[in-house]
Amino acid sequence: MYRILVTGGAGFIGSHLCEYLLEHGHKVICMDNMFTGTYDNISPFFNHPHFEFVNSNVIHPFHMEVDRIFNLACPASPIHYQYDPIMTTKTSVLGAINVLDLARRCKARVLQASTSEIYGDPIQHPQAETYRGNVSTIGPRACYDEGKRIAETLFFDYKRQYGVDIRIIRIFNTYGPRMLENDGRVVSNFIVQALHNKDITIYGDGSQTRSFCFVSDLVIGMVAMMEQDDFAGPVNLGNPCERTIKQLAEMIVDMTGSHSQIIYKPLPEDDPVRRKPDIALAKEKLHWEPSVALKEGLTKTIRYFMEKY
Ligand code: NAD
Ligand code: UDP
Repeated sequence: MYRILVTGGAGFIGSHLCEYLLEHGHKVICMDNMFTGTYDNISPFFNHPHFEFVNSNVIHPFHMEVDRIFNLACPASPIHYQYDPIMTTKTSVLGAINVLDLARRCKARVLQASTSEIYGDPIQHPQAETYRGNVSTIGPRACYDEGKRIAETLFFDYKRQYGVDIRIIRIFNTYGPRMLENDGRVVSNFIVQALHNKDITIYGDGSQTRSFCFVSDLVIGMVAMMEQDDFAGPVNLGNPCERTIKQLAEMIVDMTGSHSQIIYKPLPEDDPVRRKPDIALAKEKLHWEPSVALKEGLTKTIRYFMEKY
């Protein structure tokens, strides 16, 4: 049994990770400032004897004794990370420094939740870990993309300079129950719009692609990366099954039996055109690949939103 800190543990992915770790017999400390996290996500664990919640901001240093740290604290949807972009950068940079200092002091292993956004609007397709990316330093997504890039740099510098035991995963678009209804991400937007028979808002012409990973697959990959002893990463975690946004919209309309119309709105600035992970490294090093097909994952996600709203 480990004592495990999950920063951002009240968020979408973090709450699934906390649940998985508790189910596997670990003690979990969930640290979150509740910017995009919710008490609904974690209240089922409040009575669990091995669960502890700390309402705190990762930009401030903190002290505790832990064996493992998963650093997920950071708003992940464009609406939320662009709401206060300076805080987003501080969260990534100061948050990384604070978890790394803690890991160094406790001799804990620390995993950074990095992102496919570090590849920016990629010129190489699919994206392998060796690709260095095509990121704007001054655009509206830069606070997130560059924040996550410098966090990766800090992780490797703490490893080289202080011998901190680090792991880095680059998460590609992930979806599932507990996504926020109003955070603007495409899967939650389309499902909520379809369930209310409202217009489905495709940005651009819908030909841009994404590859969607169901959250339970991702959590298994995260833990596999944390618990292997051979390599620090970075490693891509995502589902390589690529779809256009238009295909996703049509699939969700079909699956919900919705009367929604598809409408087209302007494409946001710096919106990546194509995204698909190369997961050869994850297969080789972690023996991991996703097992939940998009239709199966969407069925579970649609059911969640039907029950919740
Ligand atoms: P989320 O917004 O649901 O969760 C982020 C959590 O971090 C929230 O609970 C939020 O309140 C908390 N948080 C934000 N700023 C904080 C701060 N300064 N101090 C403490 N807590 C803070 O997003 P998510 O989708 O669960 O993403 C989790 C992590 O995975 C993020 O680091 C994100 O960058 C990364 N990621 C997610 C995706 C995805 O598709 N969901 C893709 C790539 C990377
Ligand atoms: N998108 C869309 N309609 C929406 C929300 C998003 O067409 O209502 C598009 C968005 O422009 C992007 C893709 O869907 O091309 C994925 O967007 P999301 O914000 O979920 O993830 P990210 O862009 O960070 O990969």
